[in-house]
Amino acid sequence: MKWFGGIEAGGTKFNCIIAQDPEHILAESTIPTETPSITVPEVIRFFKEGETKHGISLEAMGVACFGPVNLDQNDPHFGSITSTPKVQWQNTPLLSQLRSAFDIPYGFDTDVNGAAVGEGQWGAGLGLSDFLYVTIGTGIGGGVICNGKPVHGLIHPELGHLLMKHDLTKDPYPGRCPFHGDCLEGLASGPAMTERWGISTHDMTADHPAWDLEALYLGQAVHNWILSYSPKRIILGGGVMKKPGLLEKIRLVARESLNGYVDSRLIKEVNDSFIVAPQLGDRAGSLGAIALASLAAAPSR
Ligand code: ZN
Repeated sequence: MKWFGGIEAGGTKFNCIIAQDPEHILAESTIPTETPSITVPEVIRFFKEGETKHGISLEAMGVACFGPVNLDQNDPHFGSITSTPKVQWQNTPLLSQLRSAFDIPYGFDTDVNGAAVGEGQWGAGLGLSDFLYVTIGTGIGGGVICNGKPVHGLIHPELGHLLMKHDLTKDPYPGRCPFHGDCLEGLASGPAMTERWGISTHDMTADHPAWDLEALYLGQAVHNWILSYSPKRIILGGGVMKKPGLLEKIRLVARESLNGYVDSRLIKEVNDSFIVAPQLGDRAGSLGAIALASLAAAPSR
């Protein structure tokens, strides 16, 4: 039996898990994100205790980390958290700190790439070589899986910062992205919705006009993502997407916007098998980290 360590390193908590896959989970723990000198030793302790208690040795470790992170394998700072607004975590060499405790193979990637790999291995992207996983919550970010692997390129794609068609007469809200103002994230993240309408997304009823506007922006984004990446499926997750009916509205906007241009039945229909919800739920991040670990343990797969 091969056991892997998975760490979903988030801005508020580190979700740690020892597992093989979603069906075989040995131990789990949630550790608050304090400072690196408090949190990292706690994380290491969880895995050391897990190994002792269950009489196992971890085969590999996966880390799906909040960013920005250094993903350049040729850079000595590979696996570091870089210019995060969380000041105490700036330039934290997370991967080398973990390596000093566990000298095993590591998979290290962004949180969204981790979730995308997990959905591909066990969830809504199962069996697909090319798909997108996008999360719409406090921010908007996504992982692009191409030929079965997450795209890194120069750094990694930033699916949340697309420029949008923004009709200021219909929607005078200026957007809240500190870099671009009214980019997708600036207009359509959960905090943008709350700021624009002066009401929390949880308190917006299903017929609140916020949802049509949200679908308009996300539908435009889906249009752009389809044309840029030619995915076989788009998985939309995150807190905002939990609103019943939103997924259907987005499909409709994307279908109308594409106007039959791309010659594929899947895209002409933009149907419920093309734009879908994630399947791994609240464990998407930590299971994604397990998926990264299993790939690191068998890199040729
Ligand atoms: Zn932006």
